[in-house]
Amino acid sequence: MKDCIFCKIAQKEIPSYKIYEDDVVYAFLDLSQVTPGHTLVIPKTHCQDIFEYDATLAGEVFARIPKIARALQAAFPEMKGLNILNNNRELAGQTVFHSHIHLLPRYAQNDGLT
Ligand code: 5GP
Ligand code: ZN
Repeated sequence: MKDCIFCKIAQKEIPSYKIYEDDVVYAFLDLSQVTPGHTLVIPKTHCQDIFEYDATLAGEVFARIPKIARALQAAFPEMKGLNILNNNRELAGQTVFHSHIHLLPRYAQNDGLT
């Protein structure tokens, strides 16, 4: 979609640090790095939020999360746990309106997240 920052990232028009990629998803480090390795997983096709997924896309995207979590563990071996978060619509904290799943590595109980 024109003027979508995450479409541009998926198409490599805007640089990002790649964690994982295949034909369906692109996973890259979040600029904000709430914890080291904070990653966003996006479908390569534009989709605004969870309300726009059909069952096929949902299956394709979510089925890849365990593999991406293992890639993240390999890249950040100190990681002791992982939170998975998905904000949908402005009220729920979504700020970029191309659906994305946050993977938040955890290193200790008091590493900035509760
Ligand atoms: P949301 O608040 O919509 O769930 O999360 C959007 C996330 O996208 C934020 O954590 C923000 O740091 C990240 N973000 C916004 N713009 C960019 C960008 O250009 N590159 C990367 N890597 N992350 C971005
Ligand atoms: Zn998009």
